[in-house]
Amino acid sequence: MSTTFAKDASSNGAAGGAHPVAGGAVGASIGASVRMAAISAVTNYKPISQPLNFADTPAQDLFCSNVFNKAEMKRRLPKPIFKSLLKTIELGEKLDPTVADIVAAAMKDWAIEKGATHYAHVFFPLTGATAEKHDSFLTPNNGDGSAIAEFSGSQLIQGEPDGSSFPTGGIRATFEARGYTIWDVTSPAYILENPNGTTLCIPTAFVSWTGEALDKKTPVLRSMQALNKQAQRILKLFGHTDASFVSATAGPEQEYFLVDRHFYFARPDLLNAGRTLFGAKPPKGQEFEDHYFGAIPERVLAFMLEVERELYKLGVPVKTRHNEVAPGQYEIAPIFETANLANDHQQLTMITLRRVAEKYGMTCLTHEKPFAGVNGSGKHVNWSMGSASQGNLLNPGDTPHDNAQFLVFCAAVIRAVHKHQGLLRAVVASAGNDHRLGANEAPPAIVSVFLGDQLTDVFEQIKAGGAKSSRSKGTLNVGVDVLPPLPKDAGDRNRTSPFAFTGNRFEFRAVGANQSISGPLVAMNTIVAESLDYCATKLEAATKGDSSKLNSAIQTLLSEIINECGDIIFNGDGYSEAWHQEAAKRGLLNLKTTADALPQLLEPRVEELFEKYQVLSKRELHSRYDIYMEQYCKTVSVEGNLTLKMARTLIFPAATRYQNELASACVNLKALGYECDTETLDKLTEVIKLLQGAMNELENVLRKDGGETLAEKAQHYCMDVIPAMTMVRKFADQLEGMVADDVWPLPTYQEMLFIK
Ligand code: ADP
Ligand code: MG
Repeated sequence: MSTTFAKDASSNGAAGGAHPVAGGAVGASIGASVRMAAISAVTNYKPISQPLNFADTPAQDLFCSNVFNKAEMKRRLPKPIFKSLLKTIELGEKLDPTVADIVAAAMKDWAIEKGATHYAHVFFPLTGATAEKHDSFLTPNNGDGSAIAEFSGSQLIQGEPDGSSFPTGGIRATFEARGYTIWDVTSPAYILENPNGTTLCIPTAFVSWTGEALDKKTPVLRSMQALNKQAQRILKLFGHTDASFVSATAGPEQEYFLVDRHFYFARPDLLNAGRTLFGAKPPKGQEFEDHYFGAIPERVLAFMLEVERELYKLGVPVKTRHNEVAPGQYEIAPIFETANLANDHQQLTMITLRRVAEKYGMTCLTHEKPFAGVNGSGKHVNWSMGSASQGNLLNPGDTPHDNAQFLVFCAAVIRAVHKHQGLLRAVVASAGNDHRLGANEAPPAIVSVFLGDQLTDVFEQIKAGGAKSSRSKGTLNVGVDVLPPLPKDAGDRNRTSPFAFTGNRFEFRAVGANQSISGPLVAMNTIVAESLDYCATKLEAATKGDSSKLNSAIQTLLSEIINECGDIIFNGDGYSEAWHQEAAKRGLLNLKTTADALPQLLEPRVEELFEKYQVLSKRELHSRYDIYMEQYCKTVSVEGNLTLKMARTLIFPAATRYQNELASACVNLKALGYECDTETLDKLTEVIKLLQGAMNELENVLRKDGGETLAEKAQHYCMDVIPAMTMVRKFADQLEGMVADDVWPLPTYQEMLFIK
């Protein structure tokens, strides 16, 4: 670590790139020397590489330059092969395995022209991370000492990584470690560059030898199939029978923090837990709101430009960048894509953010709550569905007929969220996100839908009108009346809702910055598929093929849905106490923690949902529950042990050293005949004692097992360990405000957030 760091610091033009922990001026505390190093890194910042010049290489030329996309395939593949592949990519048809050898050869040639020596099957294990296994193209040529580059169809289609250490939730024992990676034709292969060589990366699904999903991609693909199938039935009722694939679409907005790397390495908590476990509130926080959309600092902007260039090359359509609310917090968002691709690209985005930040002497923090007391980071997942021929199905149309169709799709989403609030809460549950949800900066843990006043009014009118065919006051006739124009303007958004209609899509705002978007996408696709199935079944039964009955059937259906599920709609302030009470009255779930939320995955309605639409079998679902519960327990356990260790070995010693200094000063003053006021010493001694008590309590709690089942263990971590950690932190943070700055061992919030 120290060598990498020294190299980074010097290549950054940072003076005195000494290791921040080991180095530093004699006599100064670690905290102070790190601060000096970070200040030096910022003030001496010089661009590390040739300035990016989008005038020489325009962004449109860079875009997809490292992607084996449709244009590249068309150029390199025989026409029939290309056509066959397109059918799989665009219409979701089964892959014809006989094309694989030819595609593999073309892909290999393209990759080798780009300097690739290796290929890798890339997959997304249930840890939420990205995994890759690299293999060389080279095969020795029968004993003559030469080698040839080979890549066959079967190597493209299937790989067998040694996946034995990926979590499987009991699906596969370690001794039968066989897991297979299977080429996902719908997500294009790409080249990953490194100064020392390039690698052909092939997006794959990761399954056990029995075909069970061990990853986060497989269920996304399955849920997209389910959604398409049910959406087609609705479209058919409206006379659209071209069957062009209805795809879920997603646009994830990623929030993150940047801190100078000197701070990162000097904070064991950032290094090991991705968030600070200690740190007093700085005198200046985010209250001035001067950071939000403010000018982007030079080094940060340079980082952003490079991130964008790298992502363009990989075909990730990044669109917006800006400062977020908290100091040191930023956001990047792409243009939406089909859900599967958006998911892959989201993973690439996170990796790229981290990798490029290092180059600029910074660390990118994607934890949901790196700093207490300042805003946390979310990942708003914008979601809709659409097809090539019908466009966006959540876009209100211009004609009564289009509006009727829009209202059916919209009502299906409302019904789905109402029925599966528990599932939607469970898929955003994580130890990190628990610090964010409900903290008056992010949506509450209560799931509700924001529709906006106008659309709510439309549904109210439909509800009032029921099945009546004639127009009465305040009643809107589906299929006859045109909707009032709905606002699409971002200014009119309700930021406190976890699930908001934003003019032509829904925005799921409860997702955490560090989470894979796969879980939320799988949930949304599947619950909406189920709801569309419900709607289609009702409408088919009511019309029996007679399209003249469609409008009144829709009117009845919509009014039923709003009567049954309307309680999920809430347009007010989601942060308010009044909403918590109102939601309780409405019987909506309020699952505050991960330990409370994850058991929702085992609810019979959730099991049935995933089994019926063949997205996850019961075993696959349960394995996920186990893995996520374990992840929660492990995360809190690591944080608890780290809190104890840092308090014992960093904070307590600093506090007692300072205590000693004050005591000596007092003794000396008295010896000289001065009076000595011990007020500071008294207060300090008291807080040190409280800290000691809290550390002992945390140690006790950590020693306990917590229970037999995962659910019991999770509750133990949630109800016993976290509060004990919080107490240790409370006294440690008080000490930070008392102990002399030059002996305080940790970089402060002020430094980490504002030195950039
Ligand atoms: P805001 O911060 O106001 O919510 P942004 O422009 O940052 O808005 O993000 C909006 C996101 O929604 C973008 O990623 C955009 O591509 C995405 N989006 C737009 N239309 C759709 C759609 N039909 N399906 C999914 N995502 C969409
Ligand atoms: Mg948004």
